[in-house]
Amino acid sequence: MTDNCNQVRVRFAPSPTGSLHVGGARTALFNALFARHTGGKLILRIEDTDLERSTPEAVETILKGLDWLDIKGDEGPFYQTQRFEIYRDYARRLLELGHAYPCTCTAAQLDTVREAQRARGEKPQYNRLHRPAEIAPQPARLPGKGDAEPFVIRLRAPLSGTCVFDDLILGQIETPFEEIDDFVIVRSDGSPTYNFTVVVDDIEMRISHVIRGMDHVSNTPKQLVIYDALEAKPPLFAHVPMILGADKKKLSKRHGATSVFEYKSEGYLSEAFVNYIARLGWGHGDQEIFTRTELEEYFTLEAINKSPAVFDTTKLQWVNAEHMKTRSGAELAPLVGEFLAAQGFRAAGRLHDPAFHKLLDGLKERKKTLVELAEGCRWFFLADDQIELDQKAAKKFLVPAITPALTKLIERIGQAQLYGEAELETLFNDLIASEQIKMADLAQAVRVALTGTSVSPPIFLVLEVLGRESVVTRLRAALNMVR
Ligand code: GLU
Repeated sequence: MTDNCNQVRVRFAPSPTGSLHVGGARTALFNALFARHTGGKLILRIEDTDLERSTPEAVETILKGLDWLDIKGDEGPFYQTQRFEIYRDYARRLLELGHAYPCTCTAAQLDTVREAQRARGEKPQYNRLHRPAEIAPQPARLPGKGDAEPFVIRLRAPLSGTCVFDDLILGQIETPFEEIDDFVIVRSDGSPTYNFTVVVDDIEMRISHVIRGMDHVSNTPKQLVIYDALEAKPPLFAHVPMILGADKKKLSKRHGATSVFEYKSEGYLSEAFVNYIARLGWGHGDQEIFTRTELEEYFTLEAINKSPAVFDTTKLQWVNAEHMKTRSGAELAPLVGEFLAAQGFRAAGRLHDPAFHKLLDGLKERKKTLVELAEGCRWFFLADDQIELDQKAAKKFLVPAITPALTKLIERIGQAQLYGEAELETLFNDLIASEQIKMADLAQAVRVALTGTSVSPPIFLVLEVLGRESVVTRLRAALNMVR
């Protein structure tokens, strides 16, 4: 907690230049978990000042992505493009304080300076040509498009010494001020720059902790210089290590999913995905499976690792399978229904069908994703005359030797008083005894006839959920095929 205000206030501040990817989702989640853990507030801020790269579509997909992950801001979303007057006020204040100054160097002039510096083996930097000799109030005039002589506003950064801050994850970070030149805070068209808007907003929004990706650690010294110039107390910083792909390179499009929605469409449950990304760089003992409430209860910044995390799809699948097991068939039905609908099945009318729920309860133990679950239910939704038999399986199991047993099975199923898993099991046992055949042979033949394949949930469950009428129709069709 900060001393100047007792409430934790964190923010998720995406730049809307693309969809919500894994790294961004994890940053958002860590902020959300920290806010919940501490009873603080999460502020959403859309950093859309880069007008060329920001799009309303990206804003929408980021907000939808957060929604899928059940991450809700307590305040916002605030849009930086709607806050230009605030940044301009701060820029004027910095000019009046003498901590910022106008600079009329043109791009060509700056290039020449940099070239010369490079030639001398120096780090290319702004040469502070227009920096006033002393800290003294400057005219509070800001640049704008119509200026006769274009200029920018630069921040007057210290020339010597070291910028030091204690990162809550990485420890002490030191940067010599020599490395920080007098950077631009307002461009010649009047627009504020990234580091400047972040600081102004973090001050205005009374942010207590900045939790963000490690790729921002190099911005922090510049931001601290701005806090100092404004005589504002900086927040605490926690830079979260990167996420790497299996090849140990920074996670990117190359590794497959570019957006969290790709995981949604690959059939991962939101809570499983959240569980998995929470574990990327954070842990709580040996525990792997967490409910959201547990994550909120256990999450601390101290438990975040310093070293990068590796994204492991096999592990994500395992986590997903574990979460699917904790959901009832009734809960899974609408989620699987979406995938079935996408495959052209009219599952909507049967989302409340207890037989469908029972099937999902049987299937969920052996499937890793909702896509696999939907795949495993296809035979249940296909019309009886649409079952396509896997030719290899049919050839192997639907053989002439099994036809007498199948014929009797059809008869007995038709006559059975009760039609449930237990009764069907007894019926099968009686039949294999009288026919002197193996259960495996009968079960596989029936499985192929009913589902089209040789893999399915337990056979008596298949028979029960499919219902007597469809079972008889499908068995008859199979029998006709063998004959
Ligand atoms: N807008 C920045 C980004 O999307 C984040 C800035 C910050 O967290 O300070 O990478």
